[in-house]
Amino acid sequence: MKPDRLTLLRDLVAFDTTSRHSNLALIDYVQDYLTGLGVDSELVFDETGSKANLYATIGPDNIGGVMLSGHTDVVPIDGQNWHSDPFTLTEKDALYFGRGTADMKGFIACVLAEVPRMTSLALKSPVHIALSYDEEVGCLGVRRLIETLSGAPVLPRMAIIGEPTAMQVVCAHKGKRAFRVSVGGRSAHSAYPTDGVNAIEYAVDLIARIRQLQADIRVHGPFDQAYRVPNTTLHVGTIRGGSALNIVPESCVFEFEIRHLPEQDVDALVDEITDYASETLLPAMQAADPDTAITIESLTRYPGLATGRDEPVIGFVQSLLGGDRSTEKISFGSEAGLFKGELGIPGVVCGPGSIQQAHRPDEFVAIEQLGICAGMLGRLVDGLCESSLPA
Ligand SMILES: [Zn+2]
Repeated sequence: MKPDRLTLLRDLVAFDTTSRHSNLALIDYVQDYLTGLGVDSELVFDETGSKANLYATIGPDNIGGVMLSGHTDVVPIDGQNWHSDPFTLTEKDALYFGRGTADMKGFIACVLAEVPRMTSLALKSPVHIALSYDEEVGCLGVRRLIETLSGAPVLPRMAIIGEPTAMQVVCAHKGKRAFRVSVGGRSAHSAYPTDGVNAIEYAVDLIARIRQLQADIRVHGPFDQAYRVPNTTLHVGTIRGGSALNIVPESCVFEFEIRHLPEQDVDALVDEITDYASETLLPAMQAADPDTAITIESLTRYPGLATGRDEPVIGFVQSLLGGDRSTEKISFGSEAGLFKGELGIPGVVCGPGSIQQAHRPDEFVAIEQLGICAGMLGRLVDGLCESSLPA
C-alpha cells in the first residue's frame, strides 16, 4: 500500500527543509518512495554534499516529455506567530496548515501521489520530476541541476513549475537582481567633518539615484498592465552605518534589489547605478581621501519569464485544467525563467495554494486546490498515454 497524497504531504511537511538546513532527509524519502515504485532517480549535490536536487524520468527515456518541477526548501518560521506546529500538518476548515503546504510541498505531494499511475500505464511521452534545493535564497540549487541536464541527450520539452498560483496558468514573471553596496569613507571627529568622508551621506546619494530611477520608470515605463505592479521596481531593503553621532561614519552598507519586467533592459539600469557611483560619487570622495571606495557586489539574479502566447505549453496546460482559463503574469520569481533561459525549456507556473499564504505564519493550502492539481496531473498522465506531446 503506497502512501496517498495526504500522507505524502504530512511526511514532506514534517521535514524541516528551511533553506539553511540540509534537505537530504526529504530527498532520501522521495528517492526511496520512487525506488519502491521502480523509478530510478539521480541526485545532483551541492558543493558540500549536504543538499541535493533530484531528477527522475518516468516513461520512454529517448524523447523529451513534461517536467514537473518544485523546490524542496521552505522559508524560515523565525519570528512568526503560528497557531499550530509549522512542521505538523494540521487540518482545519478544509485547509491544511503547515510550512511549505502552499510553497510548495502541496504540489510535490500531488506529483508523487500520481507516480503509481505513471508507472502502471504506458506513457508515450515521459514525465520528468525535478526537485531542487535553495530556491528561496535566489534559485541557487537548480543551477547545478541545469548544468547536469545541459549535457543530457534528451531534455524535457516543456515544464510546469508548481509554485502557488491558485492553479492559474502563469506565462510570465519578473526577473530579479540583488546587490550589496559597501561605501568606505574616512572617520573624523564630527566637529571637523571636512577631515572625514561621510560614508552614510554618500550612500544616501546613491540611494537617491536609485529612487530617481524608480521615479522615472513609474512615469516612462516600460509598463505591462498584466502585472499587479505594472513596471520594474527598485527597492532598498537594508542599511547599516555609523557608530556614534559624534564620529563621521567610516562605513555604510546597504542592499537593494531590482524586480524587472522580462522586457526591461536591466543591464542598462544597473549601469546607471554603477556609473553614478564610479563617475560622480567616487571622484568626490577620493578628492578628499584616495583610499575611500564604493563596492557593488551582486548577491543573486534570476531572469524573468516570458513564455510566448503561441508556445504549445500554454494551451497544453490550459487544456489539462479544462474550462476557459486565461493566463496571468506574476511579480514573484520562479525557476521557470532559468529553465527557459539556460536550457530553452518553455514552461508555465501553475500550482496549488496562493502566494498570499506563502512565507507567512499559518501558511495553508486548501484541500480543494490540491484536488484541482491532482485532476490536472491525472489528465496529464491520461493525455501522455493517448498520444505524445504536441509538436
Ligand atoms: Zn516557492
